[in-house]
Amino acid sequence: MPTKRETNPKYSKLKAFKIKLLLEELPTMDVLHVRDFAKYSNPTCMRCKEATETYYHILTCQENTTSLRHLLTNVITKILKKYQTYSEAKVTQITRIFTNNISISDPQNPTINRVTLGILPSLATREINRTAAVKGKKQTQIPQLILHYIAKEIHEKIWKPRCAYKYTNNTRCEQKDEDREIPTQSTAQMISQNYNPQTSENNKLLKIEK
Ligand SMILES: [Zn+2]
Repeated sequence: MPTKRETNPKYSKLKAFKIKLLLEELPTMDVLHVRDFAKYSNPTCMRCKEATETYYHILTCQENTTSLRHLLTNVITKILKKYQTYSEAKVTQITRIFTNNISISDPQNPTINRVTLGILPSLATREINRTAAVKGKKQTQIPQLILHYIAKEIHEKIWKPRCAYKYTNNTRCEQKDEDREIPTQSTAQMISQNYNPQTSENNKLLKIEK
């Protein structure tokens, strides 16, 4: 099973996405615009046409079918239920800890909180563990699981629909480029190539999905 996973393109795609998300290296229009000005002369979001499509904008665009907050609440609910420690108050509390600690910055509007997806301060991790109140060893898995599922959900519910929209409404004569590798190796690629997630983590995650 673990070896299968390493070669499963579905997983490696998600893995690469998680790392790009963490490093804020998604091929958003503003990034493409800087890389290839001739081909991407307009960095505006294709969906709402109201703002530059930045990393921040991808996650907050009004055309998204789900809000980041909604997504977060759903993920936390699902995990607490799985660990049989669900209560509405816990979900509210943990959602609050996450929104306070993982924030994406809007470079055009510095007054908005910053979210760094992928890394939680240890204090926040401890607070989540305490709130979730799962007994024993399993407790420490919860913050990481939540982060994993947040990335997964962003991939499924925000990034994929965004890319699907881009392909079907492509009026800017751009090639399909989300899957194309960046010519010079990016940090995300280097890390993803050397990154060996714990196989046990994956087994747990698979169980949760059932
Ligand atoms: Zn938009």
